[in-house]
Amino acid sequence: MSKEQLDHLLKKELVIPPPEEFVKNANVKDYEAEYKRFLENPEKFWEEVAQQLIWFKKWEKVLEWNYPYAKWFVGGKTNITVNALDRHVKGDKRNKVAFFWEDELGNEKVVTYGELYRLVNKLANALKRAGIKKGDRVVIYMPLVIEQVAAMLACARIGAIHSVVYAGFSASALRHRIEDAEAKMVITADVTIRRGRAIPLKQIVDQAILDLPTVEKVVVLRRLRPLVDLIGEKEVDFYSFIENEPDYCEPEEMDAEDPLFILYTSGSTGKPKGVLHTTGGYMVGTYYSVKTVFDLKEDDVYWCTADPGWITGHSYIVYGPLVAGATQVIAEGAPNYPDFGRWWRIVEKYGVNIFYTAPTAIRMFMRAGEEWPNKYDLSSLRLLGSVGEPINPEAWLWYYRVIGKERCPIVDTWWQTETGAVMITTIDGLPMKPGKAGKPVPGVIADVVDKEGNPVEPEKGGFLVIKFPWPSMMRTIWKNPQRYEQYWNTIPNCYTAGDVAVKDKDGYIMILGRADDVINVSGHRIGTMEVESALVSHPAVAEAAVIGKPDPVKGEAIKAFVILKAGVEPSDKLVEDLKYHVKMELGALAVPSEIEFVEKLPKTRSGKIMRRVLKARELGIDPGDLSTLED
Ligand code: ATP
Ligand code: MG
Repeated sequence: MSKEQLDHLLKKELVIPPPEEFVKNANVKDYEAEYKRFLENPEKFWEEVAQQLIWFKKWEKVLEWNYPYAKWFVGGKTNITVNALDRHVKGDKRNKVAFFWEDELGNEKVVTYGELYRLVNKLANALKRAGIKKGDRVVIYMPLVIEQVAAMLACARIGAIHSVVYAGFSASALRHRIEDAEAKMVITADVTIRRGRAIPLKQIVDQAILDLPTVEKVVVLRRLRPLVDLIGEKEVDFYSFIENEPDYCEPEEMDAEDPLFILYTSGSTGKPKGVLHTTGGYMVGTYYSVKTVFDLKEDDVYWCTADPGWITGHSYIVYGPLVAGATQVIAEGAPNYPDFGRWWRIVEKYGVNIFYTAPTAIRMFMRAGEEWPNKYDLSSLRLLGSVGEPINPEAWLWYYRVIGKERCPIVDTWWQTETGAVMITTIDGLPMKPGKAGKPVPGVIADVVDKEGNPVEPEKGGFLVIKFPWPSMMRTIWKNPQRYEQYWNTIPNCYTAGDVAVKDKDGYIMILGRADDVINVSGHRIGTMEVESALVSHPAVAEAAVIGKPDPVKGEAIKAFVILKAGVEPSDKLVEDLKYHVKMELGALAVPSEIEFVEKLPKTRSGKIMRRVLKARELGIDPGDLSTLED
């Protein structure tokens, strides 16, 4: 990237201080002090967090680091469900609401910690009776319902390794994941309801497991009447399965390093990787970040809009918040069905205080117009979060103004399936810079470096890395240790995230895009995010994706795919306007040589733009693994 472009970006930089009221009451009031406390003694820092939780047996050593393999809380024994459930039920939270659940029609279900505890224990007993043992794999392919959360926790209770597959994946993608895990059991439901339509999950499971010898049992949550048929001995009704089970199941004593789950990455840049997370470190890492990044307090109503089919749902619906004893909202179905008011109605109805979503949703609501959120009382909100992709400054400011009413700090959280928990953001008290994720959270040493691992000067682009192990880091890639080692072998002494980033003079990190997607124009490396954000900042543009195309003169030329806002017509004049706009924003080098107007962009089922699909289409090459492509 050229100096002029960067100067331009920096000139435009907005710094927004967090609201005073918020900082005064924040769980961590002084980021620098907390970070310093970590740097002075990382092991002591993490040990103090771990001590807040229940362990059957205390660890002998906090960290054992045999590059690139880490063990955390070595020798410690615990069970994450004891911290997520028993700790609350035996304390003062038995009748505290764990979940408010809603469907698209606004039908609700309220579940307390006590109720969730009994459901999980019964299911755990049923799993045992069905022959599921510690270390066995169970695939969960369910809608966003209480029973989905319970299924994950029931596995954790008995030490079975769950692999949750988002209930939008096709039969072949599901089959691949079941096969890869050699799962003994699949837990599913008859249907999930999206946009008023029933999607037949069980039918997809039946197709997926055809002739798969490992699957001994399929447990089916039957939601619709008439009840869906169950075939043969293999299939059993969820509630008959748990009906006669006792309310208590002795938690399996898990070593801190015993596996908790396998989860596949989103597949934005290639074939999804089966990330393995373990018990103790993951528990401690997610718990700490819920308290600090999301500033969770006892009386908060917290809503993360993700699905437990993604890491965001694992860490920030199921494990982190439950271990922290949060009251949560979960909502099955589409954000904008029956109308664009749905989410804001829910915020008003339950008085949501903490709200965590993805840029794709924010851009969609932006396109629909602020009249929708403006119909509802959003005054309960006190903190907003974003995750999944870089959030364009334009979308950031909209979120801040229209949803947060300039009262709520925004945490733009950078992290990955592999990292297990948030790594970079602006935790409580740090000023915010729209478009820049922020600083490493306490417990994390992140940096921007060159290929050799040398830190690059501030304001020069490079590779985003993490330089020291952290408790919630993945331990391996399922059945593929070489792939795991690659993360730590690419740049010496660093975990390579695969993203390119730039650090500013204040130490704020801005994610520029995927290393694989970087465009090289006349020897200048240009991140996709900057060009896309420049396009999105034009009033006619709702969303944009850019790719590099081979060019005989420049090496690569930029092609942009643009979705226009409702009511805007494509024209040659608009193409010229947009090019001029990018030139003014970023400089001549970043101007797309081609702009194509499209109705839709290829995205993962979690809403991330898949640039590799655009590129493959454009160049007529093989797009690679498409299992996570939406539609
Ligand atoms: P795959 O690894 O299979 O290509 P993926 O990287 O999209 O898929 P995830 O683990 O779900 O799988 O996503 C992590 C990636 O998402 C990060 O590496 C980063 O590129 C992007 N990301 C997540 N949060 C942010 C954020 N706040 N800002 C910028 N990018 C983000
Ligand atoms: Mg990735």
